Amino acid sequence: MKHRIVIVGGGAGGIELATRLGKTLGRRNHATITLVDANLTHIWKPLFHEVAAGSLNPGVDELNYIAQAKWNHFHFQHGRMAGIDRTSKAIRLTAPSGSSWQEREIEYDTLVMAVGSHCNDFATPGVQQHCQFLDSRAQAERLHGVLLNRYMRSHASDTAHPLEIAIVGAGATGVELCAELQHAVRVIKGYGVKHACPSTLNITLLEAGPRVLPVLNEKASQAVHNGLNELGINVRVGTAVKEVTENGVVLADGETLNADLKIWAAGIKAPEFLKTLDGLETNRINQLNVKRTLQTTLDDSIFALGDCSSCPLDDTSGRFVPPRAQAANQQAALLCKNLERHLDGEPLLDFKYEDKGTLISLASFDTVGSLNGIFSGKVITRGLIAKTLYTSLYRLHQAALYGTPRMLLKALAEYLQRKTRPKLRLH
Ligand SMILES: Cc1cc2nc3c(=O)[nH]c(=O)nc-3n(C[C@H](O)[C@H](O)[C@H](O)COP(=O)(O)OP(=O)(O)OC[C@H]3O[C@@H](n4cnc5c(N)ncnc54)[C@H](O)[C@@H]3O)c2cc1C
Repeated sequence: MKHRIVIVGGGAGGIELATRLGKTLGRRNHATITLVDANLTHIWKPLFHEVAAGSLNPGVDELNYIAQAKWNHFHFQHGRMAGIDRTSKAIRLTAPSGSSWQEREIEYDTLVMAVGSHCNDFATPGVQQHCQFLDSRAQAERLHGVLLNRYMRSHASDTAHPLEIAIVGAGATGVELCAELQHAVRVIKGYGVKHACPSTLNITLLEAGPRVLPVLNEKASQAVHNGLNELGINVRVGTAVKEVTENGVVLADGETLNADLKIWAAGIKAPEFLKTLDGLETNRINQLNVKRTLQTTLDDSIFALGDCSSCPLDDTSGRFVPPRAQAANQQAALLCKNLERHLDGEPLLDFKYEDKGTLISLASFDTVGSLNGIFSGKVITRGLIAKTLYTSLYRLHQAALYGTPRMLLKALAEYLQRKTRPKLRLH
């Protein structure tokens, strides 16, 4: 029987791995590759803030797993993984929301966990009940619906209803969302929607740490902070939230901020069910502990990559690979090689993270960040080069999924769509 490789999670890392393995081991008939995901389509997670603001239409940008599997010699199974039996080497799938089939099992010889992460509410009271999140496409679309509803309400009214938004967490998600929302209100104003203008949109960005975007060096972080201020966003660093209520957020010092819309974008945590995966080791935020070969510490036939894994950066520093799309992409590339070696009985290679730097998009206004390599230490802002470098991570992801010629065609199609459709999704 052919070796069975099962990958759970078709996000930034998992879909790339399934595609790469399908084109190599799958096409050569050396292994059966199966991708499992709780959704039927893939959208690259760093685009979710654009879905929420309406600048990206997910229906146009999504990739269908069934078609991708057919084109690239792997299989797709729709389902939500809920557990595992390591003795019989089988995972348990339940029906994703909206589906009604019964629980079923899929057997594996090698399993790869790539189920990503979601926001960490740090057990803050009221967050789950009163906040919006940006962890999934469904949540991003829900947020888009809420915003649109507010604008349509004010369009139908004779008086302006200012919209107070509190965004908690000044990482990439919170910062990019602030800028996208400011961009969206300007576009909506341009369409003549009554009372929609920057002065009726009050956004406060709250960050418990001493500065925005701690992944950036101090200079770049300050440049982002200034950019947000120029857009009229009220940035408050060193400000922890201790509770979220129906009407706003309560800060650690007792001050209350009123907010119609509360968006939680702080920290990350891997899914809860990983804590009970038949004895596999996890850390305090549920990530599976892996060795540098990406094998889980207690089971060599189970691998993990991306946000749901905790992989040492090296053998000495005690630091770990950060939860970022570029890390998931690099791990998928290494794991493709390692699984071929695994099948051939060769020793596995260690993962070496290459931090290419971080660029943050402030929507159409600016792109700020710092890069490694030839741009090392410089703060990059503005201009076509910054924008091109920012989109290059997504283009690399598309190239891994579609091949370079189709990626270029898709880039052209996106450009033409931008020229022929409304700038914002207003439905
Ligand atoms: C708004 C936003 C902006 C970001 N910007 C950047 C950026 O600019 N640069 C950067 O490097 N990173 C960025 N990130 C982080 C980046 O998106 C993640 O690090 C990356 O997506 C992690 O990839 P992954 O493959 O581990 O998981 P994901 O891409 O999250 O994929 C996980 C997949 O697993 C599936 N899944 C989950 N649970 C189950 C289950 N039980 N059963 C079956 N399937 C399951 C999900 O449906 C999903 O398809 C951003 C994140 C957000 C939210």
